[in-house]
Amino acid sequence: METLDQAPEEPTGKVAHSDEEWRKILTSEQYHILRESGTERPNGETYREFRQQSEGAYHCAGCGAMLFSSNEKFDSHCGWPSFYDPANAENVTTKRDESTGMLRIEVNCAKCEGHLGHVFEGEGFNTPTDQRYCINGVGLKFVPAH
Ligand code: FE
Repeated sequence: METLDQAPEEPTGKVAHSDEEWRKILTSEQYHILRESGTERPNGETYREFRQQSEGAYHCAGCGAMLFSSNEKFDSHCGWPSFYDPANAENVTTKRDESTGMLRIEVNCAKCEGHLGHVFEGEGFNTPTDQRYCINGVGLKFVPAH
């Protein structure tokens, strides 16, 4: 997961690029997750980094929108970065995803529509919402609090 010294500029509206532009803006890994709804492998490098990060904000790697923060992060031991709520709900949307034949709720960036992961609920985690935003770390940029 890329770490930035300071927060990227917050997009003021929807962010749209052609497929060709996205391929230039994003690394091939980021492109696969954000634009092709890919899934990073569990317990990978970004998960290891996520577990070591302390306070800070998580921004969309596609457009810079602030999505999640360390305030809502928790360790679900599922192998992917987990949050019990977005930090800025305005920047996060959800929709039904039946692409695998099983109903899941997909989580997207509201500004660039990048695919972030899925949200699961009712799993019994001891968190304020009982929701697990299961997010691909590759689609995030971390800005440590100073
Ligand atoms: Fe975005």
